[in-house]
Amino acid sequence: MVNRYSQMIAPGRSEVVEEPTPAPQVGEVLVKVTVCGVCASELHPWQEGRPDPPYRFGHEPAGVVVAVGPGVTGFAPDDRVTGLFTGAYSRLCLARAEQILPIPAEVPDTAALGEPLACLVNGQRRTRVELADRVAVIGLGFMGLGMLQLLRLRGAARIVAIDVREEARQKAAELGADEVYHPADVPDTYRLTRFDEWQSTKGLDVVVEASGTQPGLTLAGEMVKAHGILSILGYHQASDRQVDVGMWNWKAIDVVNAHVRRHADLMESMRIGLELTRGGLIDLGQLVTHRYGLEDVDRAYSDLRDKPAGFIKAVVLP
Ligand SMILES: [Zn+2]
Repeated sequence: MVNRYSQMIAPGRSEVVEEPTPAPQVGEVLVKVTVCGVCASELHPWQEGRPDPPYRFGHEPAGVVVAVGPGVTGFAPDDRVTGLFTGAYSRLCLARAEQILPIPAEVPDTAALGEPLACLVNGQRRTRVELADRVAVIGLGFMGLGMLQLLRLRGAARIVAIDVREEARQKAAELGADEVYHPADVPDTYRLTRFDEWQSTKGLDVVVEASGTQPGLTLAGEMVKAHGILSILGYHQASDRQVDVGMWNWKAIDVVNAHVRRHADLMESMRIGLELTRGGLIDLGQLVTHRYGLEDVDRAYSDLRDKPAGFIKAVVLP
């Protein structure tokens, strides 16, 4: 049997390659990938051709175990799994057993993309929300809309959702946002930018920056109230972001970098995310709007960049 996978071979260009079916070694599992999310964190690397090509992207897979290597316990062929393994724009992909978790029977594969689930739940767990807090989410892409669902679960009483795209705002309203705004239309009562107003009721308890952009980050700094929490969930790929530390100081806010590297933390958050999905408390599957074949990975990334009508989340079906 032969395996087929997509690899980036030059900036913005991929090709499909064949290889002999990989054999799982000690501690490894061979997974037949049924779906793999297309992640914004890979957009710039794909555009810029880094790491050095050829390089295999795709780190948001779900699929079915087809074989297990020596020493693997707890997984067997036909088990549905998701996890933290890369190079998954591929019909078959090797994973280490400690990188994967079973998908609950009730949960469809598109709702069980383990990596973004883990990042979202972890980001939420690092962002303290009290009962009846007033919160804002800036940037209503896949991650922002996922976080919105988690904030509601945490007991936020009022959710203000902000995005430049009308259809993103509409989706946020469908998911239970109480107010939606274009960034230019955010009411003055939600902006605390003057020191002499720090004792006013201006601003929100918790503001999650999920756009990964400079304007989003700037707005988040303005919208958080004095002693509030600013949580940076967006993945900022530019190293030259400007923030108003003076304002952060006089507001006395807590700033949370909602990202994580530790493998154990991500696996625990993934487990929690799958449980919440099983219980019907969150649903990332409804955010999947665009599907592509293995030959169309380049189009998936360019659509992620250009956001055609209705776009929220792309997946590749290898
Ligand atoms: Zn991702």
